[in-house]
Amino acid sequence: MQSTKPHAALLASPGMGHLIPVLELGKRLVTNHGFHVTLFVVATDASTTQSLLKEPYPHINIIILPFVDISGLIDPAATVVTSLAVMMRETLPSLRSAILALKSPPKALIVDLFGTEAFAVAEEFNMLKYVFDTSNAWFFAITIYVPTIDKNVEDKHIIQKQPLSIPGCKSVQFEDTLQAYLDRNDQTYIEYKRIGIEMPMADGILMNTWEDLEPTTLGALRDFQMLGRVAKAPVYPIGPLVRPVGPSVPRNQVLNWLDNQPYESVIYVSFGSGGTLSSDQMAELAWGLELSKQRFVWVVRPPIDNDAAGAFFNLDDGSEGIPSFLPEGFLDRTREVGLVVPMWAPQVEILAHPSVGGFLSHCGWNSTLESITNGVPMIAWPLYAEQKMNATILTEELGVAVQPKTLASERVVVGAEIEMMIRKIMEDEEGFGIRKRVNELKQSGVNALSSKGGSSYNSLSQIAKHCELSLHFQKAKAQGA
Ligand code: UDP
Repeated sequence: MQSTKPHAALLASPGMGHLIPVLELGKRLVTNHGFHVTLFVVATDASTTQSLLKEPYPHINIIILPFVDISGLIDPAATVVTSLAVMMRETLPSLRSAILALKSPPKALIVDLFGTEAFAVAEEFNMLKYVFDTSNAWFFAITIYVPTIDKNVEDKHIIQKQPLSIPGCKSVQFEDTLQAYLDRNDQTYIEYKRIGIEMPMADGILMNTWEDLEPTTLGALRDFQMLGRVAKAPVYPIGPLVRPVGPSVPRNQVLNWLDNQPYESVIYVSFGSGGTLSSDQMAELAWGLELSKQRFVWVVRPPIDNDAAGAFFNLDDGSEGIPSFLPEGFLDRTREVGLVVPMWAPQVEILAHPSVGGFLSHCGWNSTLESITNGVPMIAWPLYAEQKMNATILTEELGVAVQPKTLASERVVVGAEIEMMIRKIMEDEEGFGIRKRVNELKQSGVNALSSKGGSSYNSLSQIAKHCELSLHFQKAKAQGA
């Protein structure tokens, strides 16, 4: 007998920053909305991805699509965006075969930003098609708006470096703009604009944000006089979706160490799944941590000059041993107060630990939400992608972060400034205000997800209803035939 549960297929592109929220979406569809979920994941050899997928996820059928070798299709210096776009394009034939092989075809296909070309596959199988923007509404707004503007307007932003005004939304300063727009001769630009054109073709647009976090931008996306005419499809803010503290994460050295530190005394330093620093910046960061005399946990990676996303596809390199590239004597001098973790740490568990009181972050959207949902104030240190926009939301709109006077991506931030920022969020009066605000936001995120009328909960219920209706119509049609 065929299951009466609606069946949704989710497609996650490579990278923990995409996989984690897509998986969380799958879990919610199953647990709160009675779905059966098939999750398609593009194979990578990253151990972080493999260990995340090893956990049991009841009612989620995980299908690993074969690895695609794109080395012959892209320039060796291609950006992360180009690599992901090409990888996802090359995956389409195996996605099609995998859907064909399923016993019951899914009613909906939900893809992340890099999967929009799979809409054609969804149409072949008569499936509803959704895009899940795993970032925020403002990022979505610029992504869909830029392809609609004429060359003059674009020139003003990209060449003359003027702010880009987006109807009904906060303008994007040139300094914050998406890296993808900066070189119009690069494939990244072409891929990104294509994505911006394809996303609004969905039946619905899901976002990892919530009504009270971005009311103005969400309002503009729904207003036909503003950005609604570009967004076209209904917008569903369903966040904050973050990986919960997992029983599967063993008590490791970091968590044991945190157990012995005072309440909110530790600053956690990490640059996401791909971020890397230059060697000069790494030395200054070490110096700043030392000067601040605060307790810290620092996830370190080998420095790479001129590639802030240097670890995105190379996370496993050099994960063994104590880093030899830190300044001489740093480890000895900070032994009593700090812990250095090579390459990767259990971030959610760290941010949820009562001893952690601050987060120096690259402002990836998952990291941002993990910090907010744990009530942890931030130092915003954006590196690439939409992270500068995220940092602006955090500092200027929400007031839950401080940032260097000049962006860390523009110059080396010196140790004394780093010390000052750390003290600001960990000890100063200003830090208390930031802590209060981030705790208010934490509560607003909890409210949004509440099954008792939370806005994000309701958004996902609407999608569930849409899928159920489609199932119902198809059955009625089949019976009538
Ligand atoms: N992450 C982690 N340990 C690390 C670094 C990252 O668990 O040492 C997780 C982090 O909790 C987040 C994701 O990887 O869920 C990174 O996503 P984000 O959007 O913050 O940044 P990206 O890696 O996509 O730049």
